Amino acid sequence: MFKKILIANRGEIAARIHRACRDMGIQTVAVHSTADADAIHVKMANESVCIGDKYPKDSYLNMAAVLSAAEITNAEAIHPGYGFLSENAKFAKMVKEAGFEFIGPNPEHIELMGDKITAIKYVQELGLPTIPGSNGGVDGVEHACRIAEEIGYPVIAKATAGGGGRGMTIAFNEAELRSGFKIAQTEAKNGFGDDTMFVEKFLQKPKHIEIQVLGDKHGNVIHLGERDCSLQRRHQKVVEEAPSAVLSAAQRDELGELCVKACEKMGYIGAGTFEFLFEDDRFYFIEMNTRIQVEHPVTELINGVDLIAEQIKVAYGEELELKGIKLRPRGHSIECRINAEDPKTFMPSPGKVTDYFTPGGLGIRVDSALYPEYTIPVYYDSMVAKLIVHGANREQAIARMKRALEEFVIGGIKTNIPLHRKIMESEEFISGKYSVKDLEDIIKRVK
Ligand code: ADP
Repeated sequence: MFKKILIANRGEIAARIHRACRDMGIQTVAVHSTADADAIHVKMANESVCIGDKYPKDSYLNMAAVLSAAEITNAEAIHPGYGFLSENAKFAKMVKEAGFEFIGPNPEHIELMGDKITAIKYVQELGLPTIPGSNGGVDGVEHACRIAEEIGYPVIAKATAGGGGRGMTIAFNEAELRSGFKIAQTEAKNGFGDDTMFVEKFLQKPKHIEIQVLGDKHGNVIHLGERDCSLQRRHQKVVEEAPSAVLSAAQRDELGELCVKACEKMGYIGAGTFEFLFEDDRFYFIEMNTRIQVEHPVTELINGVDLIAEQIKVAYGEELELKGIKLRPRGHSIECRINAEDPKTFMPSPGKVTDYFTPGGLGIRVDSALYPEYTIPVYYDSMVAKLIVHGANREQAIARMKRALEEFVIGGIKTNIPLHRKIMESEEFISGKYSVKDLEDIIKRVK
C-alpha cells in the first residue's frame, strides 16, 4: 500500500481523506494557502506545505505548486478531493507524468465527461437514456430557438463546460430563451472559458437521482445504489438521502446495472457518479462526475463501505473486494450541508466560530472543517460541515436528523441550520416525493 499521500484540497473533504488514510496506516501531506495556516486539514495532517496565496488560483489551483509539494515530501499519490483540480484532466496527466499516482480515473475519462455534450453523446452509445434536445452544440441563439420549436417549450439551455448550476437558463417561451441564452453564454465564457451551449427539454418536476460506481484496474465495476439529491437551491444540492424514498428495488437494479455496463465498456477506474433526472418513472442522464462527491457519506452509511479507502485501494492496483457482490441498502441515511450563510438571505457569513458543539450518539456523523475559535476565511466555499445520520429506516433517520440539528451549536456566525430544521418538518420532505422544485417552495413558505 502507499506509505504517503498528498491531499490536494482543503476543508471537510481534506479532513475526510486524511481520516481514511490514517485508518489505513498511510501518512498524509496537507497543502494550504496563506489564509489556511490554521485550517483543520493542516492541523490533522502528518506534514503540511504552504503552496501559495489566499486566492484559489494562486494556491489550490496551482498545479506546479501542488506537484512540487508532492516532490519535496516524497508523497507517492495525490488525492484531489472534489472541486479545485479534481476534474482537471491536464492535472491528472501531469500527476502521472511526474511519477505519482492520481487517485481518480484516467485523464481521458475526466476529459470526456467534463464536456457535457461529448458526455451525452458517449453515454447514448453506451445505452443510457438521455433528454431530447439539440444533440450537440447550438450555433447561436437563432439555432437554439429553432431547436426549442422542434422539441417544444419549456427548454433549458446549458453550457457544455458548465458546473455548479452555472451557465444555464430555463425558458418557457422564445422571448425568455432569447434573453436568458445570452446571459448564460456570457456566464459560461467568463466562468469556464468555453461558451458552447446546447439545448434540451426542461423537465418540470423531476427528481435528481444519481448512481455511485466504483471500478478497479482489473475490469471489475460495481454500483452502490442511488442517492436522491433533489432538494436544491439554484441547482445546488442542500440535502441528500439514500436510498431514495420513491425507487423500487427493481428500478435501482436496472439503473445500477446500466451504469455498471457503461463503465465496463469504458474501462472506468475509481469512483464516479452518473447523474439522472427522474420523472414519470423514466430516467434521463444529465452528466457524470469523475470524482468523489460531497454527498458520498450517505452511500457509505447504507452500504458500510469507506469510499475514500476504496478509491485509494483501487488507485494502488488492488482488486475490488466487493466485486460480484450485490449490495442491498441497509437502513436509511440523510445528509444536511451546513453552510456559513444567512438562512434567510443566503448571503455568506464567514468569520470567527465562538461556541462549537457537535451532535453525537448512535447513527450520527459530522464531517466538518470547524473547531472552537476557528476563523472561516472569506475566500472559499461557504459549506463548512456536513451532518449525516443513519437510521434503521427513513422515519428513524428523520427523527435522528431533527435531534442532531437541535444539538448542533455553531456560535459567532450564521448558518443554514434553521433552514434544515424547517426542511425536516416539511410535508414535502417527510413524504419523500419532493422534486428539484420543492426546496424553493419550502424557502418561500418559511421566510
Ligand atoms: P451542473 O453541472 O451545473 O450541476 P447539471 O446538468 O448537473 O448541472 O444540472 C444541475 C441541476 O439542474 C439538476 O439537478 C436539475 O435540478 C437541473 N436541471 C438540469 N437539467 C435539467 C432539465 N433538462 N430539466 C430540468 N431540470 C434540469
